[in-house]
Amino acid sequence: MSASSIEFVEVGPRDGLQNEKVLVATADKIALIERAIDAGARRIEVTSFVNPKKVPQMADADAVCAALPQRDDVTYIGLVMNLRGAERAIATGRINQIGAVVVSTDRFALANQGQTSAESVVVAKEIISRAKAEGLSAQATIAASFGCPFEGEVAEDQVVVIARQLAEAGPVEIALADTIGVADPAHVARLVGKVTAAVHPLPVRVHCHNTRGTGLANVWSAVAAGASVVDAALGGLGGCPFAPGAAGNVASEDVVYMLGRAGIATGMDLGKLVESSQWLGQIMNRKLPGMVAQAPLFPKVG
Ligand code: ZN
Repeated sequence: MSASSIEFVEVGPRDGLQNEKVLVATADKIALIERAIDAGARRIEVTSFVNPKKVPQMADADAVCAALPQRDDVTYIGLVMNLRGAERAIATGRINQIGAVVVSTDRFALANQGQTSAESVVVAKEIISRAKAEGLSAQATIAASFGCPFEGEVAEDQVVVIARQLAEAGPVEIALADTIGVADPAHVARLVGKVTAAVHPLPVRVHCHNTRGTGLANVWSAVAAGASVVDAALGGLGGCPFAPGAAGNVASEDVVYMLGRAGIATGMDLGKLVESSQWLGQIMNRKLPGMVAQAPLFPKVG
């Protein structure tokens, strides 16, 4: 492991909440964002600008943006699937970075955003250009990079080709998402290595779900292979409404614990994350999957 630090991105307010049956109040979302900032997060995926009929949890995107804390040092990310969503995100005046999503396979792309995979790449490039024209930054995520809920295996070279195409549009980074949590650490090492080489000098971000218990191992493997940015969601909330069987993200506190103990700086305060994860469990009225928040603090303080 050569990395001494990573950039941490909190995705709980968007990816974490979008698949929850309980509709979370806007005020609670803002409290979650404030807690993430207080714990050290400087990039936060705050919402998505998608069809509220399909994703009712994100229907308050405009209200969330209007209530975001005024912070020059925090990058607020809004996720979009099409140019209409990008226009909505731009119109809020509060989103700093637009996240475009492409899908590696046709069947999932059609289910997720009504486009083929190739169409999703074209649209993502338009979204990135549009964001940059407005003085915003943009990033691109390749969903189902490690496996598709409908088509199964995804060829690594296919993902590399998509990453190269996206890089042409000038995003701040390319992200590989294991949307349905099927990746294993060897697969992650190979694909992160290939994509890192293909899009150099652009950074590679990883987005791992813990559906099959490989989430943390995959994060570790990705960082070792050169990924410099890691997504996680407080408490391990999350899932995708369009991906059958998708479960939670890797938990922020679990990622921060693992990397921190291994000497890789995340800029995050573990104690505050643990406390916030417990708070979030009360808001969601259930036990969250994250493990570190359920265990005694180690090492003991005081
Ligand atoms: Zn996700």
